Amino acid sequence: MDYGEAQKPELKKDHAIIRIRRIGICGTDLHAFEGTQPFFSYPRVLGHELSGELAEADGAPGFEIGEHVTFIPYFNCGHCIACRMGKPNCCAKIAVCGVHIDGGMVEYLRVPSYSLVHGEGLSFDALALVEPLAIGAHGVRRAGIRPGEFVAVIGAGPIGLGIMEFARISGAQVIAVDINEKRLEFCRDKIKVAHTINASAENVEAALSTITNGDFPTVVIDATGSQRAINDGFRYLGHGGRYVLVGLQKGDIVVSHPEFHKREATLMSSRNATRQDFEHVIRSMKDGRIDPTNYITHRVDFEEVKEEFASWLDPKNGVIKAIVSL
Ligand SMILES: [Zn+2]
Ligand SMILES: [Zn+2]
Repeated sequence: MDYGEAQKPELKKDHAIIRIRRIGICGTDLHAFEGTQPFFSYPRVLGHELSGELAEADGAPGFEIGEHVTFIPYFNCGHCIACRMGKPNCCAKIAVCGVHIDGGMVEYLRVPSYSLVHGEGLSFDALALVEPLAIGAHGVRRAGIRPGEFVAVIGAGPIGLGIMEFARISGAQVIAVDINEKRLEFCRDKIKVAHTINASAENVEAALSTITNGDFPTVVIDATGSQRAINDGFRYLGHGGRYVLVGLQKGDIVVSHPEFHKREATLMSSRNATRQDFEHVIRSMKDGRIDPTNYITHRVDFEEVKEEFASWLDPKNGVIKAIVSL
């Protein structure tokens, strides 16, 4: 296939065409570009954090042409056991737009109409951030947080930051753990996290014990995708606690069974997000509990992507979220 010049897609039954206006760049895109992302085949048009104007639509009741929209980029089969259980986010035949199939780094993108999400008056910038934040909202929903609980979030990248925000909204006492002091500073200053632990400078277990008066957090959520960090996370969990893996890595997880057992711990993964999570994010933005502009550290026009893209891989540049406008 020739990727030199994209053609405007034709409208199909039960599909919509979005004129893309913002593209958020995430770790998945950067790792795919580097060639280090699992489950990728090439060539591939990236882009799954998107917002734009509805250009054409079929089978999209309630949507108007010209309306500002985002969409849920996890296309599902509608028939498998997960879909039948109302969990299209982990469909057995899932096709994630920009991962398994070509994505939204284009001017016009065709998507299934069922995936459309109303923009509800939010800006294109905000709408492009709904998807990455929904990943965090889903992880928090999986954890079933009760108000007042201590929740340790390991990894303060864009996904981890979203997890911290939704944990806070659920009434948790959030503890951020990372090895990057700048990221921890961001947690304290921008998203009002009361407790931060620098894992490269402090003993994490001792610090967690102090913060929680010896109880340890009853929810630990991993957003690192680091095998070592994930294995370490089991030891941070309080008795009766839940451990949620949002980050993904390629290796095996090693657990001490007696340590796991004595806690009666629950281990779960969290994959993608559902419409309920997207709507929760949009509501939280609308009522000001989340300020999406906090996340945007880099901004370029579509024509500049080619030159700038590689630089976003360099941790020195402090990228939290790069946004492409077109
Ligand atoms: Zn993403
Ligand atoms: Zn399915």
